[in-house]
Amino acid sequence: MTSPVLERFLRYVTCDTQSREEATTYPSTPGQLVLLRQLVDELKAMGIADAAIDEHGYVMATIPANTSKPDVPVIGFIAHVDTSPEMSGAGVKPIVHRAYDGRDLVLPDDAEAVLRVVDSPYLGECLGHDIVTASGATLLGADNKSGVAAIITAAERLMAHPEIPHGAIRIAFTPDEEVGNGTKFFDVPRFGARYAYTMDGGPRGELEFESFSADAITITFRGFNTHPGYAKGRMVNAIKLAARFIERLPPDRLSPETTEDREGFVHPYVVQAGVDRTSVKLLVRDFMTAGLKEKEAWLQSLAAEVVAGVPGASFEVLVEESYRNMREVIDQHPLVVERAREAITRVGLRVRERAIRGGTDGSRLSFMGLPTPNIFAGEQNFHSRLEWVSVQDMEKAVDVIVELAKVWEEKS
Ligand SMILES: [Zn+2]
Repeated sequence: MTSPVLERFLRYVTCDTQSREEATTYPSTPGQLVLLRQLVDELKAMGIADAAIDEHGYVMATIPANTSKPDVPVIGFIAHVDTSPEMSGAGVKPIVHRAYDGRDLVLPDDAEAVLRVVDSPYLGECLGHDIVTASGATLLGADNKSGVAAIITAAERLMAHPEIPHGAIRIAFTPDEEVGNGTKFFDVPRFGARYAYTMDGGPRGELEFESFSADAITITFRGFNTHPGYAKGRMVNAIKLAARFIERLPPDRLSPETTEDREGFVHPYVVQAGVDRTSVKLLVRDFMTAGLKEKEAWLQSLAAEVVAGVPGASFEVLVEESYRNMREVIDQHPLVVERAREAITRVGLRVRERAIRGGTDGSRLSFMGLPTPNIFAGEQNFHSRLEWVSVQDMEKAVDVIVELAKVWEEKS
């Protein structure tokens, strides 16, 4: 028996929708539009009359309410169609490994690409499942096409079963999430949902409503450049100032490579160097916005230490806000999490709550006025040639969406 969510997923992953950094177009690549348009056709074919794509490539659609209750809030489900620029998504050849028995899965196009339980412990929780991988040469694209397939399949089920009561359900498929632009032109009022869920998480049962708060900070050291042959007592080398600054960052803490769970970090990732001026760009991450500010103040104090006592040396600081922990918003809307817990439990799963060490489109949408936690779609080993997804997990994601529609109706 073929699974409708699997059939769709296998079709979507063969469409190359890799997004691109620093593109001048929106969406960043035309391949995304191919899939987005296909999704409109698919929604229309199941009777969703208002399915449409806008000038930016966002697909939105409505499953009309069929309940007689007047106060059921409009709920949205959102997934992104693009895949990561970090790994090729062209010519994806998905492989379904039926009834997984715990063996190593050697992917045919690269002998080095072996999926093992020891490296991916969650695979050990999927014994008996049908596991989908790519062939070893590309990513799979389960991030986030498993979410796209789950939402479309849930829409099909709701359209085919008018006896399931629900309020209006809004659907959105977005481009360019992986390059940080998934919500750039997302029109929250036009979407018109009171609450939404991104279907872009990992293991079955996962529910995420907490993300990092994130800033980027650029510290620019200013020195003084002059002819090196006649520089004695005059030259101030900004490259050396920046080097001393980076050297002051502790080796054993506060970095991506030394932190986990709820710890934040600072992360120098770009240096633009010159004798006259050298700038160091750092990512700053913390679950508390106050912790973010503390880290930024600390970085400034390190920079001040470096220039202190060096005549002619100075520095400037530029802080840019990236996103904020969505929990700050979601805590004011406890129902959005409660209903999700209820739906996940009703389909027979244990709720796994986890704080995301990153941001999601939901982080931004929450601050744009649409509280949007993230729910699992089964994705594993994101952005990797070892990416995989369990078909049974995708089917559970479909069940959760349908159940959420029911729970919101029932309790309103
Ligand atoms: Zn994703």
